[in-house]
Amino acid sequence: MRQLACDVLVVGAGGAALRAAIAAHDTDPQLRVQIVTRGKLGKSGVTATACSDRMAFHATLPYTLPGGDDNWRYHAADIYRLGGCVSDPKLAEILAKNSGRAAQELQRWGVPFTLDSAGRLAQFITDGSDYPRACYTGPYTANHISQALCAKVRELALPVLEEHYVFQLAVSGGRVVGVWALPEGLPGTEDPARHLVFLGARSVVLATGGAGGIYGHNVFPPGAVGDGYAMALAAGASVVNIEFLQIALCSPKTSLACSGSIMRAMPRFVNDKGEELALPGSWPELVFDKGASWPLSYENPTHKIDLLVARELEAGGKVYLDFSANPRNFAWESLPQRLVSLYKAERRQDLGQERKFSPLARLREINQPVVQWLAERGVRLEAGERLEIHPSVQHFQGGVWIDAGAETKLPGLFAAGEAAGGQHGANRPGGNALMDAQVFGRIAGERAAQVPFRLDRNHPQEPKLQKDRGTAAGEILTHVRGLMDRYAAVIRWPEGLKVAAQELEELAKLEPVPARESWDRVLEAKAAVLVARAVVKAQALRKESRGPHLYFTEADGEAMPTDPEYQRSVCLSGPALNASWIKWRKPKEDEK
Ligand SMILES: Cc1cc2nc3c(=O)[nH]c(=O)nc-3n(C[C@H](O)[C@H](O)[C@H](O)COP(=O)(O)OP(=O)(O)OC[C@H]3O[C@@H](n4cnc5c(N)ncnc54)[C@H](O)[C@@H]3O)c2cc1C
Repeated sequence: MRQLACDVLVVGAGGAALRAAIAAHDTDPQLRVQIVTRGKLGKSGVTATACSDRMAFHATLPYTLPGGDDNWRYHAADIYRLGGCVSDPKLAEILAKNSGRAAQELQRWGVPFTLDSAGRLAQFITDGSDYPRACYTGPYTANHISQALCAKVRELALPVLEEHYVFQLAVSGGRVVGVWALPEGLPGTEDPARHLVFLGARSVVLATGGAGGIYGHNVFPPGAVGDGYAMALAAGASVVNIEFLQIALCSPKTSLACSGSIMRAMPRFVNDKGEELALPGSWPELVFDKGASWPLSYENPTHKIDLLVARELEAGGKVYLDFSANPRNFAWESLPQRLVSLYKAERRQDLGQERKFSPLARLREINQPVVQWLAERGVRLEAGERLEIHPSVQHFQGGVWIDAGAETKLPGLFAAGEAAGGQHGANRPGGNALMDAQVFGRIAGERAAQVPFRLDRNHPQEPKLQKDRGTAAGEILTHVRGLMDRYAAVIRWPEGLKVAAQELEELAKLEPVPARESWDRVLEAKAAVLVARAVVKAQALRKESRGPHLYFTEADGEAMPTDPEYQRSVCLSGPALNASWIKWRKPKEDEK
């Protein structure tokens, strides 16, 4: 067994992890701050790899509207309100208060944010916010953030153990004392006991990102199954709000989020037989507005589109956006004035009368680059090809429950970024995830660096991994993803969730083993089963609709309304997923 020791151990190398490592070093440059990650620095995780038509970083800067010293309060109020009042209001305030600093820090470190004519960071309005706060560099904002943070980590010469899969927290005397890892890609034929790595630390920051990979339909990088949630639960910590995931219409072939201009071009929704889907009555407003309210949310009537698509898929069909011809009964002249004005504000070129005749002309008029972008990825709209769409998981709003110091319920364990929970509620304003990773990444690093040194002579027990007798890990993963897509995505109902829970309990009894696979698949399968059980359990406990959680009495019935009784959060603790409810308390003025 190989052993390494450090003061602060940061697990992951995404936006939250790198910010935490930098902060730990800045807090005390004498400390040994170690990063350990799957994949390579700057190449793994969502921050380094994701893109969309315009990625947002939400921030309240000194000049952000509505202006004034306390403009962060409007931001905090938006987070809490849009979150369905089921997040920790204290954490919302910390996010809002620190967001401007985070954006300015990133700009200083080299993120090329777009500037306005006055040389200030340009900002636009995203879903769920009343004021323009979203800063951006373009489609690759997250990647630019990752590059700037990687450069800083290299400048500080912080050690990075790459291509290592952390799979278990080591706990001794009731606190975290390190983690267990295996080299990534270890062939299934190898005995894992001979390759175990123990990384001892006085504090550990979990920044392992979200768990999109427990669903078949997701836009996360491969392997993102929520190891952080699983490790924290297995060690006795708690997760909160884990039923709230951002789900939205994406292109499975290209992972493009079909928001903004894609919907504002008002395409036809067709099935694989070429039949146009009957869009709900308030068409075309609903489709147009979907452009600005992309994630599925019960509070927004545009969720009827997600539902329509989900039901068509459920019936065994496929759904495409067709830009070659106008939808049935479409007439440019009959569009409400509000839509025409909004459309005109988006125009980047003038195609005159052409815009009346096809969604493709409208898309070219408001976002020609996306037509090119899709063509480069094999969807040639100009040749009449259709864009397949599917509701896909993009973000976990919940995670390992943290307090204002980013500390979890387990002493010595901190969490930040998408691995952490409590800071977002049911929904989040667009751009708040990248910002959250910077704000709580910094706080987690600072606090982890202040944990006092304790000598622990107890050596944690080595984990045991079964090699031979069991079920192929890949089979278990496929089964989990099938269950989650079928029962725990857009449409959630008691019978479906019961089936999912029972089957997941059976999967939990199986021992995943590598069958012509590497040990990575075994570790992913173990984590995926526990995380999926937690998500399904939390979904079943919330018997109302709120944010992306649409809860139906029957699969083909009506979504249940929001119930004020459920203005509280589901908390699941330990490997047994013991459930409790948290009722949040808004801080009094003098506590802020
Ligand atoms: C397509 C897409 C578009 C998005 N657009 C936006 C947007 O416009 N605005 C916004 O605010 N948010 C957006 N998000 C969400 C946002 O990008 C993420 O929430 C954020 O980047 C997550 O950062 P993170 O540091 O928490 O995790 P990640 O960047 O995912 O990093 C996780 C790290 O942990 C490592 N890791 C995972 N498991 C292990 C393990 N077991 N052992 C060791 N290492 C491990 C990974 O390799 C990786 O380095 C988008 C997400 C997607 C997928």
